[in-house]
Amino acid sequence: MQRDQRAKKAEDTASKLSSLLCTHKVAQLLQEPLSAAPKAARQAVLGEFGSCLQWLLKGLPESASNETNKAAAIKLLGGLLLHQAVHSAGGVLEWLQQDPQQLAAAMQSYRGQKLEHDSLEGVWCVGMKLMAKFGELLFDCCLANSSSTSRAAAELATSMTQQLLQSGVFDSWTELAQHRQQQLLIRREGDRQALLLAFQVNDALPSLWLRAMPNAASQAPNLLRAAQLLLRQLQSYGALLSTSAAAGSTRLCSREDLLKAYSRQQMFYAEFNFQLILQTMRRQLITAAAVQAVSLQSDPAVAQLLLQLLAVYPMLLHQQHSQQQKQQQKQQQERQDGKQQLRADLLPIPAFHQHPGMLQLLPGGQAYLDAAGRLAAAGCSNVGAGPTVALRAQRLSAALEVNLQYCCKQQQGSPALDGSAPALSAAAVRLVLELQLLAAGAVQRLQQPRQQQPVDKENHPWQLLSDTSSTALLHRQLKAALQAGASCQPPGVLQQAGLQLLQALAAPLQQLQLTAAGDEWRDAAVESAAGNKPAALNQQLLALRAAAPRLTVEQLVGAASGMGAAPSPLFGLAAAHPEAVTALIDVYARSPVLQAADMLLAAEVLTNAAIAVLGDDAGSPGALHDTAAVAGLASAVTSFAKRAAQLTTAAIALQEGQAAAATGITAAFRRITDFLQGANVGHVASAAAAENFPAALSRITDLLQGSLASCLLSAAEHGSATGTSGSSSSSSRQAVASTALLSVVAARSLVQLADAMQAAGPQLLFRCIMARPNYLGEWVPQQGDGSVHVHKIEPSGSTAMHTERGQWHVWHTQMLKAMLQVVLAFQGAGTAAAAATATAAAAAPARGADAAGAAAAEALEPAAAGAAVAGSSSSSSSRSSRQPGQPSSSQPVSWGYLLQLQQNSASWTAKVAAFDAKWPGWRVDVRSLHADSSSEEAMQQTQQQYTDARKLCKALAAAAPLPLVCNNPGCESLARVSEAAAASKRCGRCKCRYCSAACQTADWERHKHACKGMAAAGLTCG
Ligand SMILES: [Zn+2]
Ligand SMILES: [Zn+2]
Repeated sequence: MQRDQRAKKAEDTASKLSSLLCTHKVAQLLQEPLSAAPKAARQAVLGEFGSCLQWLLKGLPESASNETNKAAAIKLLGGLLLHQAVHSAGGVLEWLQQDPQQLAAAMQSYRGQKLEHDSLEGVWCVGMKLMAKFGELLFDCCLANSSSTSRAAAELATSMTQQLLQSGVFDSWTELAQHRQQQLLIRREGDRQALLLAFQVNDALPSLWLRAMPNAASQAPNLLRAAQLLLRQLQSYGALLSTSAAAGSTRLCSREDLLKAYSRQQMFYAEFNFQLILQTMRRQLITAAAVQAVSLQSDPAVAQLLLQLLAVYPMLLHQQHSQQQKQQQKQQQERQDGKQQLRADLLPIPAFHQHPGMLQLLPGGQAYLDAAGRLAAAGCSNVGAGPTVALRAQRLSAALEVNLQYCCKQQQGSPALDGSAPALSAAAVRLVLELQLLAAGAVQRLQQPRQQQPVDKENHPWQLLSDTSSTALLHRQLKAALQAGASCQPPGVLQQAGLQLLQALAAPLQQLQLTAAGDEWRDAAVESAAGNKPAALNQQLLALRAAAPRLTVEQLVGAASGMGAAPSPLFGLAAAHPEAVTALIDVYARSPVLQAADMLLAAEVLTNAAIAVLGDDAGSPGALHDTAAVAGLASAVTSFAKRAAQLTTAAIALQEGQAAAATGITAAFRRITDFLQGANVGHVASAAAAENFPAALSRITDLLQGSLASCLLSAAEHGSATGTSGSSSSSSRQAVASTALLSVVAARSLVQLADAMQAAGPQLLFRCIMARPNYLGEWVPQQGDGSVHVHKIEPSGSTAMHTERGQWHVWHTQMLKAMLQVVLAFQGAGTAAAAATATAAAAAPARGADAAGAAAAEALEPAAAGAAVAGSSSSSSSRSSRQPGQPSSSQPVSWGYLLQLQQNSASWTAKVAAFDAKWPGWRVDVRSLHADSSSEEAMQQTQQQYTDARKLCKALAAAAPLPLVCNNPGCESLARVSEAAAASKRCGRCKCRYCSAACQTADWERHKHACKGMAAAGLTCG
């Protein structure tokens, strides 16, 4: 009964307040700002308002917890709304806020004492509390089990919102916030209390709207309009908290309280925004609401909010990461784990969330991170139910991606996207890189065998790496940077976080490789790549190229052959981080998401890496002394060639229709359905690329020949020069050994490609070239969606060569040139080493700590140089300088055995001699070799020489067992993150590597001669 009486009283009060506002006298008063009203009249009206609002607030129930309470609350709130209670209260608030200065001054005088409810500040506070309470109660009611109650609650929520909108209080809230921002007086107690009150209202409303939306579809546009107004108000408050005035505490309220309250609201809005995205995607919104939703989602205030909130999650993940890292380092020290594998969970990951550039974007900088971090951590669980840190980060990334997407679309047609958007800043890109790396670490921890916890699929950190969230956000950022053009390109990220960019691009691919086939995330990733969906993981290299624009292919080849072109950012990145860039290509080439069309881009990036490691004639020094970089390149080249050979073989099968019989129906069906869904031309291009891959192979060889082979030769020549100048520094000896190693790797890879193409035959190659496959992918800046644009590949060679035989001749010439350069490079390295050894041996007697010894070594230079020249002109003379070649420095040279092998392997020497005898003068002609189809004789000769060179390269691979990669040339395994990681088993005798016992067995027949030879010479692969 008491409740009914209270309700009755409240309704009466609402009615009274409403009619009071309608009286002529008060209505007139309300037209004027508060300060303009005569004091007595003002006081009287304030008193009445105050007591009415107080009664209304008292009339509301404490909570609406159970179903009965909810039904009662609905009845009460409905009655109040019927009497315009919210409209009236909003009107009163609006009046008080018409003169924000006066209200602010009144609030500032508050020191935590009891508020007089006929005072200006007292009335305002009661009004705000009433709004907040109203919202909370309706929110509870929306959650009712009974659908009629929740529907009724949704209706009330919309009418409450309508009354608020009509009262004009929203706009005036924003003005108030902006005014406070100018005043910057947030040090005072009263101001902080006012802010907390405003936050309370703001807390209640977005959650309420979210609940109400499904039951109030027709009213959704209004709800969204109101949300956008409040969101902008929140942004003003954020600016207020950024100031130093917000630092410090008052008696009742610390800065942490304020920041937490602010961040809590951000979370509500982020959730609101995320749900809105889902509803938009599911087409649950009516047209007017969808338009309003786009306006809201593309609001810069949303971008700012999401980015600020997003910064919190890398911080939390980083804390987990550091803890885990400490533990694992301890365990590792205990059981020396020598296994070569990627350990993303052990990578050092910089704390970009704390970068000064990022802190600048946060209200209150580090203090915000701390407060919001504690709040978020309390709301997240990492075991069991509830959203994890990763899931929340994923949602925020996804929402930010949508925001950026709309911003890009809006800019279409206009000059350029504004590169100053916070989500495009270097700080934001770095944040996403950090997130990717941390997610990779988290995934890897979960994949550790000792992790027995059941994995919650929805909450798995892999979700962050997949193409739906932070990967998509990173792609979007880079695409938007392309679109924005000069205003933000290249992103500042490259200078400061190039290494992290490369690692972050590789991380999802590496995780994919470490995830077992049949896993649903893996399958989904492969599926999206096959459909060329936006942000599919096969676009990681496109992302790299967007971040680091490159030279054209012609410029690149020109640069490699000493034509001198300015180094591109992509090359700069490869030169600065050769290990990371080769690791990226390695895993990319092995990844199941890779499509045939992607190989062209992979070849281009590989070319950059090769020049970066090998150096070039244009003066770039290379990194041949850096064994990690060399090992990375050897591994990447091997993976790349394996994949290229496999794709060629697959193309044969596809074209011959063998595979089509097995998968034709499903593949064709999928292609048609994708097309109908307006999906992708890209998908069709992928299918064409798979069928016409051999045509691309000619382009790929062109690139590799122009960089890998040609740079190897230059490096060998350079090595000869330094080797004979008496320089016995360990770094130059290492460089020579590295040249030899990479020559063998390249020779093997060329043979692999040659064999695959040989099996395909000239008919297939020509058919492919004539198909004019359109698949050199690129992100196109003009297209807001950043879809992949595809270029045509024109048949190579002159028109006269556009015959089956002509094209086959072009292919043979390219391969021949590459193979000969590689053999020459290997020999050159051996000669350089022999010369250096001779120098060292000659210098040995005079060696001592005295200057005379050094002088003697220098004096021997000319003689040694003469020997080297003789050695390089004829292979037989290398025998004359054979010496036991032990490095004279204490630092061991990796894979130095390859240098001695040249002198020890009789079979190799004999094969070279035979080739020399058959093709005299080939060493001189190598660089100028080009396709000459003018005469039948020339063409036949090229083909013959190609066949011999292929045999020679095969012999080289057989004579030189390899460390780092699987020594079986027929190995088809693409497991693990790199060839080097896969090849973890050793030959018991010579220590060359294999990926499996099966590979070792398969290779034994071929390998046994070299293996025994190595043993006889006392050598191992190390
Ligand atoms: Zn193998
Ligand atoms: Zn062996």
